[in-house]
This record gives sequence, C-alpha cells and structure tokens, in this order.
Amino acid sequence: MPYLTHPEALDHLLSGEPSYRVDQLRQWLYRTPVLSASDMTNLPIHVRESFSDHLWPFAIEDEQVGDAGKTRKWLFTAADGAAIETVLMGYPKRATLCISSQAGCALACTFCATGQFGFERHLEPGEIVAQVAYAQAFLRQIGMPGVPDHLTNIVFMGMGEPLANLKRVTEALRRMIEEMKMSPRSLTVSTVGIVPGIRQLANAGWPINLAISLHAADDELRTSLVPINKRYPIADLEEAATFYRETTGRRVSVEWTMMDGVNDNLDQADKLAGIAHRILAHVNLIALNPTPLSEERASTKLHIEQFAAALKQRGVNVTVRDTRGKDIDAACGQLRARSGRTKPPPTVGLTIGPRR
Ligand code: SAH
Repeated sequence: MPYLTHPEALDHLLSGEPSYRVDQLRQWLYRTPVLSASDMTNLPIHVRESFSDHLWPFAIEDEQVGDAGKTRKWLFTAADGAAIETVLMGYPKRATLCISSQAGCALACTFCATGQFGFERHLEPGEIVAQVAYAQAFLRQIGMPGVPDHLTNIVFMGMGEPLANLKRVTEALRRMIEEMKMSPRSLTVSTVGIVPGIRQLANAGWPINLAISLHAADDELRTSLVPINKRYPIADLEEAATFYRETTGRRVSVEWTMMDGVNDNLDQADKLAGIAHRILAHVNLIALNPTPLSEERASTKLHIEQFAAALKQRGVNVTVRDTRGKDIDAACGQLRARSGRTKPPPTVGLTIGPRR
C-alpha cells in the first residue's frame, strides 16, 4: 500500500518497472495527489490497476457536508476497522484541514467526545499523511466553491493526542514538509500539554505552530478537566512552552474552551492573562461544543465577550474562534472513534467516559 510505505520504499511497489516510474508515482502520491489511481495519467494502465484498490490506507466510509458546503467531514475506516475522522473547513482565502493522530484518545478530558469514548490505537504515519493527501486531492479535483484549490493550513486538532504518538506524528510531519513540500509554518500541532513531547517536538527543528489546550489557569481546576495535568502541571507546561518558542522561534497559542460557570470568570481571566504574558502566547477562545457524556454547557455569548475583553484589557492577544461543523458533529471535541455509536454504554457516569 503506497501510503503505508515509507516513501523511500516506493521502488518495491513498482518492481519490474523503469526507475523513473517511482518519481512519477511519488509525484502523484505527495505533490499532486489524486482521488483515484486511474487519474495518474502518465502511468501505464497496468501499473495504475496494480494498486487501484489500495491507493488509500483506508476505505471512505462516510462523507458529511455542513455549513452550506464549507465544512466537510470524512469518516475513513482502516483495514482493522479503526475509524479516522478528518474535517475540511473552507474559507475565502483559506482551506484548513483538521486531522486525527489517533483513533480515539486515552487522555479523558471530561468535555471532549473523543476522550469520552476511549483509546483505540495510534495512527501510522501513512494514515496521518493520507488524510492530508485525500483532502488535497478533493480540493484539486472536486473543490469547494469560493475556496482555494489547495490546503493552506493543517491542524492536528482532530481525534487523539499527537504528542502521545510523537514518533509517528514526527514522521508524518516530515513527509508533509519534505515530500509534500508544505511549509512548516502552515502546520499546527495541538496538545493537551505533554511536557516531554513539547520539548522533543521543539528539538525536531521545524518552525511549526504549537497550540496548547489549557482551558484552566490553576492546577486544581485544570486537573478536574484535563486529568493529565496532574502529571504535567501548569508551571511545567509554561516552561516547556517557553522552551518551544525559544527553540523554534514560533509563538505558542493557547486554546481555551469556554464552559459556562466553570472557566469563564474574571479570576480565571486574570490568571490566564498572567500565563499568556509569561509564555508570550496568543489566546484562542472557543465556545464549548456539546458532547454526549458531559453536562457542561457553553458560556453565553455575553460571557465570552466579557472574558475576551478582560484579557484584552490585560494586554493579551485574543481571538474568539468561529465554530465549524456543529451541524454534522464535526466541531472541536465532537469527533469520536465510532461514528455509529451515538450513546454511551449504560454503566457510565455523567462526566467521565469509559476507559477501553
Ligand atoms: N489532543 C489535542 C488535539 C485534539 S483536541 C489537544 O487536546 O489539543 C483539539 C481542540 O479542541 C483542543 O483545544 C481541545 O481542547 C478542544 N476541544 C475538545 N473538546 C471540545 C469541546 N467539546 N468543545 C470545544 N472544544 C473542544
């Protein structure tokens, strides 16, 4: 399978063919991806046919369209049944792809649907890169009206914790940068705050963007929302964030999901401003999207505006992020490993999902 294969090993796929065919195939796989092997027009038909039914490392099980055609969610299924969700968001000058790094997630953040449904497995580099290639081929060959015909941004904000799958994610990043020729500045890795992973990613040497999902500005509240905070508390996270910025030269951003009556008060805004100043971060506020196993609600519009104003007043760079894909359960925190499963198992409590 081409995408599951290390690019350097492509020759094996074409044994018996002249060597320039490898370059041609590489071009189709990484530079100008196409949806189907039959579109690889400069390859002989017998070559195209030889891998036509395993061009992708997954089957395209479902495709949903939301936001009047500007958001598209794909459900891909790997050979072992693992479900991979990918979301494409189109804008007049941008096309952002939100990709998954794991099927499911082990970190159990209370308000995130992926965490509520547990961990299935790590995705392979080829499975990560193929999400990008598929969306790229879609934009080139089918497209979204009024949207660029190529991806402008890739964010690791789909299912999974990228820094808990660092080795494979690093190889996927390498293929995106070196084989697909994407600018590291157009790539964003989002993390719940795995401190050693942040340092290792910094040392990989690419100026890629790092987003930290903070959501709470003191350890007590943060541990109740993001359990891994117990292992990597905020002070350690701040140090790692600073190391990341100093090593890569990239400003870090902080993600803050706004939950009504939980993290939308002035005290949190005040502490968050302190953190943002210390690590020189930009803050993104996102209204909570509803998930099956959490009772939390989104902060009101008014509270979000007041929170943003309080941050601005304290000199923090802040953006309120628009939500895409809510109508197709494709918004932040709504992706989950088994799309068909709409209800939690009956024995589960209200806020914390099962570990499986
Ligand atoms: N594990 C990584 C990447 C996946 S989550 C991380 O935690 O960063 C991508 C973003 O969506 C994170 O900022 C996450 O905190 C946020 N998110 C999770 N659940 C959400 C929800 N229900 N509503 C809004 N944002 C959510």
